[in-house]
Amino acid sequence: MRLFEIEPVSFRCSCSRDKIVTMVRALGKTEADDILAEQGKISVDCEFCNQHYEFDAVDVEEMFASHTPPPPAGNSTH
Ligand SMILES: [Zn+2]
Repeated sequence: MRLFEIEPVSFRCSCSRDKIVTMVRALGKTEADDILAEQGKISVDCEFCNQHYEFDAVDVEEMFASHTPPPPAGNSTH
């Protein structure tokens, strides 16, 4: 008797919350805020593995805040 390595799920999607965050960032903050205003949250379903991701206003705020470099300190404004 042989042992075969059988994986019930042969295809594993490589999506992750990080990737969805990148996607939402690509939309832009204005667009993201728009969706939040309309739906109260941003929900994304991966079309490959059906993984469900949700981002509320706080999540969105965070993802754009960390994406934007802080303004340089010590510079007097013009
Ligand atoms: Zn996926």
